[in-house]
Amino acid sequence: MAHTLPELPWPKDALAPHISAETLDYHHGKHHNAYVTKLNAAIEGTEHAETSLEDLVKTTSGGLFNNAAQHYNHSFYWNCLAPNAGGAATGAVADAINAKWGSFDKFKEEFTNSAATNFGSGWTWLVKNAAGELAIVNTDDAGCPLTDGHTPLLTCDVWEHAYYVDYRNARPSYINAFWALVNWDFVNSNM
Ligand code: MN
Repeated sequence: MAHTLPELPWPKDALAPHISAETLDYHHGKHHNAYVTKLNAAIEGTEHAETSLEDLVKTTSGGLFNNAAQHYNHSFYWNCLAPNAGGAATGAVADAINAKWGSFDKFKEEFTNSAATNFGSGWTWLVKNAAGELAIVNTDDAGCPLTDGHTPLLTCDVWEHAYYVDYRNARPSYINAFWALVNWDFVNSNM
């Protein structure tokens, strides 16, 4: 069962000016594609050839984990973004955010701070933990909340390759743009 690079869920130029088509050429077409290619090379002819992506993320380590998790994380990330989206949370996730943080603005402030201070390469997530409570979680490198038993709801890729073309090293500018793109319908579908 070879893994495949998913199509982006919108035209490549649809997220501009927040995220450019050039960024997506590299981020989806080069970086994400390379994780998929390396993942397939690592599992071909092995005991993991038919293992689902989620099970690979939950049960493997080292290079195999890194490529499987980066494939999972990026596939999830593309769905977290959409044109004509962003703004405050909607639906059940809005209620859960208000219950946990008191207001959307307070949640946004804490998520933004976590993403801005996530040292080096990694991901910042809104998750639902095993007790059913929302939490903001940072992971390093390819780290994925599935390995801790969390349900991912939303993620922001804070690897420099996510923003260097558009914002150079200014991660806060990219995070600000991220808030204009959050697909709350997808976030709600993960609840
Ligand atoms: Mn990335």
